[in-house]
Amino acid sequence: MAETIELEIVTPERLVVKDRAESVQIPGRGGYLGILPGHAPLISELAVGEITYKHGSATTRLSVAWGFAEVLPEKITILAETAELAADIDVPRAEAALARAQQRIKEAEDSAAYEEAAAALARAETRLAVAKQQ
Ligand code: ATP
Repeated sequence: MAETIELEIVTPERLVVKDRAESVQIPGRGGYLGILPGHAPLISELAVGEITYKHGSATTRLSVAWGFAEVLPEKITILAETAELAADIDVPRAEAALARAQQRIKEAEDSAAYEEAAAALARAETRLAVAKQQ
C-alpha cells in the first residue's frame, strides 16, 4: 500500500475533510503546491482555488478560498475561510454569484470595489469549475 499523509480541512464553521491521501494539491498564494507524504514543513497562505487529493483510486476535489495551509511530514492542516466538497456545491447559487460579480466589476467605481468583485468572481468560477469535474 502506498504511504499516505493525514489531511484535515477546516473552516470556521466545520470540519470539512478528515482523511488520508497519497498526494495533495493546494492553491498557495504563489501557485499550486504538490504535497506528498514526508514533505518538509511549511506554512503557506491559500489563494482562491481547488484542492485535489488522491486516496487509493479516489480523487476528491474541493473549492477553497483564503486561509492557511500547514504542512508537516505526516499531516496537512488547511484552515480555510470557505471550503466546499464538489458534491456540496450549489451550482445555481454559484452561477448567480458569478453573474452578480460580473455586473459589479462593470460598475466598480474604485479599486476596492473592483477587488472585492474580482474576488467574488474568482470564488464563483472556482466553485463552478470544481462542481463540473465531479
Ligand atoms: P454568495 O454570494 O452566493 O453567498 P459568496 O462567494 O459571497 O457567494 P462566500 O462568502 O464565499 O460566498 O461563502 C459564504 C458561505 O456560503 C460559506 O460557508 C461557503 O462555503 C458557502 N457557499 C458559498 N457559495 C456556495 C455554493 N455555490 N455552494 C455551496 N456553498 C456555498
